[in-house]
Amino acid sequence: MITILDVIRTKRDGGELTDEQINWFISAFTDRSVADEQASALLMAIVWRGLSARELATWTAAMIASGARLDLSAVGRATCDKHSTGGVGDKVSLPLCPIVAACGVAVPQLSGRGLGHTGGTLDKLESIPGWTPHMDNEMFICRLRDIGAVIAAAGDDLAPADKRMYALRDVTGTVESVPLIASSIMSKKIAEGTGALVLDVKVGSGAFLPDIDQARSLASTMVGLGTAHGVRTSAIITDMDQPLGLAVGNALEVTESVEVLAGGGPPDVVEVTLALARRMVELAGGDVDPATVVADGSAMDRWNRMIRAQGGDPSATLPTATEVETVHAPTAGFVRRIDARKVGEAAWRLGAGRARKEDPVSPSAGVVLRAVAGDRVVAGTPLFDVHLDDTARLPAALDALDGAVEIGDVPPDPRVLIHEQIDA
Ligand code: URA
Repeated sequence: MITILDVIRTKRDGGELTDEQINWFISAFTDRSVADEQASALLMAIVWRGLSARELATWTAAMIASGARLDLSAVGRATCDKHSTGGVGDKVSLPLCPIVAACGVAVPQLSGRGLGHTGGTLDKLESIPGWTPHMDNEMFICRLRDIGAVIAAAGDDLAPADKRMYALRDVTGTVESVPLIASSIMSKKIAEGTGALVLDVKVGSGAFLPDIDQARSLASTMVGLGTAHGVRTSAIITDMDQPLGLAVGNALEVTESVEVLAGGGPPDVVEVTLALARRMVELAGGDVDPATVVADGSAMDRWNRMIRAQGGDPSATLPTATEVETVHAPTAGFVRRIDARKVGEAAWRLGAGRARKEDPVSPSAGVVLRAVAGDRVVAGTPLFDVHLDDTARLPAALDALDGAVEIGDVPPDPRVLIHEQIDA
């Protein structure tokens, strides 16, 4: 007979769990017959001891089997999704989804909300008046077939074990584990039914994993899991040491995304978006160059249709903050680095992100960079605009921004945005 105490002790002492023990645990955890404190003890043991390749494969398969797996064959064309491990100013999903759809590949994007210092795609899109991420599976497939681009909230039936486990990990210090992160992300993406998947694994101060070796390990673990489940999977490791683009905050990031679709936007957002789009089209077997669908306006048409289909008005004025405060450079020199984590923390303190899953977010609050690495500044040059509605939040946000910009006598080395690609 399997008991939770045996399972916890085995992992605590560095042993390997059997497939039966893992299947039993995931099922008992999902139906709540294992107490949260016991599950937390096992999760902490996994943080320290890890999971072998066999344990991880069984664990992930059990998480997928805890719910439904969508069948997207009715979409009638190749599908490819993208997942980012999250970063500050990472609005790439917004322009990417219509760009790839305009290249003839359907993008079934099931997204989550932001937690902590990184923003969530759904929170950003919800700043567009009328837009909703809610729809049933039938409507999801129907929109995917007609428009080729859908960004929606994942239903409760996809990988329910992960929903419950992620909430528990979030409050027990057990998020930072390569096998737990990999199985959490991949169980949801595999259950979603996509044929191919490109992972944007972020590395740097604003990412989950600040270290390139850990990012590499997470990327190859996820690529292995996707491939084993029949999903063509590839990962690209990209820089998150500095914010992506200039805008950090919900409506502010939507505006910047629309600039990218119009053929403008910050060069770093454009570079990462097009690199991911190229890989997605390639993995799905297409041959259209994503830059051409931006240039000829078809990606923007796709965006307008996607937003309208989900109740939004793409031409509506987005919410703006009542107050904008500017932070200035204290000294002269070159901007050498802007710390992504500090900027993300400031935007979060302004109300752009949430501390708990049920908290509301401000659509208009955020930070806009007025200078980037490499710029030459003098004392008094604007560095950031801080957008807010609630002035009581200003001191905490300014505190977070203190020291966020490194100014020195010599310009920095050019920023490397795309570190490496990891394939099966
Ligand atoms: N995102 C997820 O979905 N799961 C994790 O464990 C970490 C990030």
